[in-house]
Amino acid sequence: MMDRRQLLLGAGGLPLVASAAATAQTAAQTTGKAAGQPLPNGVDLPEPPKKRLGWAVVGLGSYAINQVIPGFLQADESRMTAFVSGNPAKAKDLAERYGVAKTYGYDDFDKIAADKDIDCVYIVLPVGLHAEYTIRALKAGKHVLCEKPMASTVEECEAMVAAAKAANRQLGVAYRVHFEPLNIEVKRRCKQGELGDLRYITGDAGFNADPQYPPMKWRLDKPLAGGGSMYDIGIYALNGALMLADQMPDSVSAVYAYPKDDPRFKTVEGGLNWRMTFPSGLSAQGSSSYCYAGGSRIKVFGASAAINMDPASDYYDNRANLHRGWDPGTPVRAAPPYTQFAAQVDGFSQATRSNTPHRTPGEMGLRDIRLIQAMYRSADQGGVVVKV
Ligand code: NAD
Repeated sequence: MMDRRQLLLGAGGLPLVASAAATAQTAAQTTGKAAGQPLPNGVDLPEPPKKRLGWAVVGLGSYAINQVIPGFLQADESRMTAFVSGNPAKAKDLAERYGVAKTYGYDDFDKIAADKDIDCVYIVLPVGLHAEYTIRALKAGKHVLCEKPMASTVEECEAMVAAAKAANRQLGVAYRVHFEPLNIEVKRRCKQGELGDLRYITGDAGFNADPQYPPMKWRLDKPLAGGGSMYDIGIYALNGALMLADQMPDSVSAVYAYPKDDPRFKTVEGGLNWRMTFPSGLSAQGSSSYCYAGGSRIKVFGASAAINMDPASDYYDNRANLHRGWDPGTPVRAAPPYTQFAAQVDGFSQATRSNTPHRTPGEMGLRDIRLIQAMYRSADQGGVVVKV
């Protein structure tokens, strides 16, 4: 196939673009009208979008509006076909802006069962509502991608996994960094042994919670949040550490770490420092917080080299450095094909279409909630080691 450079210099040295323009000009001069031209042979056109699956986005809050919905615009296997919201005016406004044909409320949500334009449902609601809406969507015959953390309790997560099996539909948890090129590259290097045997992973994720910020209100209310900083933000460091470790821990322990008289934390914890040990001799530790300045980082130490990711799980500009000892390090690079938000929904669409396991299945979300609950049990007892 002719590449673009050859194409522009067509046979006889006359640039094809110029040649086509000349032909068009001649036709236009002849007829007095604008004239279409055939596509020149051998043009390497970009790949057309694959058949796109239809998605309903459930919950039109800050993350849906600022990251999830714009992410679909870059996807090439997924398209938004419905919005679900308790606020009809907001749903209609957003549907018009994004050319989305249908809107549903929470009361008539189950009607999506009859909607042939919806293949997948993306749950972007407060955590305490994840299980209910995931199970309703699965019963409606749809595949479901649910935001992290998966649900409030282990029992809810188990019910979601069981509902997916009963409905013979895919269930994924939206751990977006598994679709983020830099994280994928660091994972590849760990797996290929570039760092030697993995010995130690440390990870921190937190921010200073503003209780007046509307999305923070449900996060500080246990029935809707499920848990505190560890559920909401610490889960990035925990899940990221496990992604790089590629093995399961055999024990966890944790202590609460926040000012006990802070009025923000009446029902959920404001911070948790955690540890995990692994049968291989690897260990990991980290922190989550609603009390320190925002940040996310992971450092993975192998026997011969280490990679420091800082930030590790931001939306747009993650960075990583490889260190072979005391050196200042060299940057790890990965060219993003498109954003992690688009890659994540396309990855889920591919898995449902090919009926192959999604990269971050419901079982992974269940595993993480089990581990965090074990950490809470440890912290409740002053940091005892809990076998898992
Ligand atoms: P948000 O408060 O901005 O949005 C929540 C949405 O749920 C709103 O549209 C709200 O109207 C709706 N809602 C329905 N019933 C509600 C109720 N009873 N109480 C409160 N809101 C109700 O929150 P958000 O930050 O967009 O978070 C939504 C989900 O997305 C959560 O699961 C959160 O963990 C997840 N999230 C993920 C990331 C990520 O990077 N993957 C980032 C932020 C949020």
